[in-house]
Amino acid sequence: MIARSPADGQGTDVGEPWQRAMRTVIGDVDELLAVLGLARRDVDIDDAQAFALRVPRAFVARMQPGRADDPLLRQVLPLRAERLPLPGFSCDPLAEAQAVRQPALLHKFHGRVLLIVSGHCPIHCRYCFRRHFPYAAVRPARAEWEQVFACIAGDHSISEVILSGGDPLSLPDRQLQWLIGRLAAIPQLRRLRLHSRLPVLIPARVTSRLVRLLGDCPLPASLVIHANHAQELDEQVAAALAPLRRAGVTLLNQSVLLAGVNDRLDALCALSERLFAIGVLPYYLHLLDRVAGAGHFAVPAERCHELYAGLLARLPGYLVPRVVREVPQASSKVPLQLALAVAG
Ligand SMILES: *Cc1c(COP(=O)(O)O)cnc(C)c1O
Ligand code: SF4
Repeated sequence: MIARSPADGQGTDVGEPWQRAMRTVIGDVDELLAVLGLARRDVDIDDAQAFALRVPRAFVARMQPGRADDPLLRQVLPLRAERLPLPGFSCDPLAEAQAVRQPALLHKFHGRVLLIVSGHCPIHCRYCFRRHFPYAAVRPARAEWEQVFACIAGDHSISEVILSGGDPLSLPDRQLQWLIGRLAAIPQLRRLRLHSRLPVLIPARVTSRLVRLLGDCPLPASLVIHANHAQELDEQVAAALAPLRRAGVTLLNQSVLLAGVNDRLDALCALSERLFAIGVLPYYLHLLDRVAGAGHFAVPAERCHELYAGLLARLPGYLVPRVVREVPQASSKVPLQLALAVAG
């Protein structure tokens, strides 16, 4: 039992290696460039971004030194290109503000609700669709968590709860245990899901306690990780995911189609192949959300279609992610429609 609400802080296990890794992320552009052997003249840095640089060292270790165009570096480097105002790019592109039913509870799609259990992320992805999300405003206090549980329990159409954020695995295991225990006690729930980038960012986050927690959970658990490029998935990530898979956790991946990161057919195929090799199936490939500051990652529509058709032509169906975009009032993520040429 924890003394404070999950969003409140560190609990008692402050000293685990992954928590130290969370506190020692790189937040200084010059330090990052020095580690990678790059100079300021190699990149067009914007030092005045409110959404500042933040990247875990374990992730930086997978970047190629001396490469300003490294696909991992591009995901985190604050560039002046983010200042370009683009028509249609806004602070809340998914109109999530309208879907907030309780503090921290988003209900947009039938049967599943999404809980923002932590506003914290050890990385700042430049394309993050929640980069302007008012986390402080939705951070529930203890009594409000009770309302969230009551709200879920009172709606029998809900069968799945998704823990999201921020990153839900930035919570200590004890707090997750409390949260998951409370959710597992809600009779109509049939599935638990976590959307987390932490197993990729800081593989040490997958502690044996977390593996037991998810493996022994009365609700079958799935974990949707987030990797955009095969280079993110090194042997440490593979080793962290293996025990989760053995414990019966369903492993899926979601990624975002990003110009200069993974907008080539070879890169997308390599990502799917690498995911399969480490026991993860591709789930979604999201088209970029039109969030202010991320316009330089946009891939033209024809190119998106071409890449999707290319994936279908190259990979078995189960290694082709569903290519989707978010449409604010839609009842699901909306699949990209392809008019494929049919022979004969
Ligand atoms: C993406 C999302 C989900 C999950 O959708 P699935 O298609 O089940 O993966 C649920 N709720 C919200 C608000 C979402 O944005
Ligand atoms: S890991 Fe996800 S929530 Fe965190 S900054 Fe990246 S895109 Fe946003």
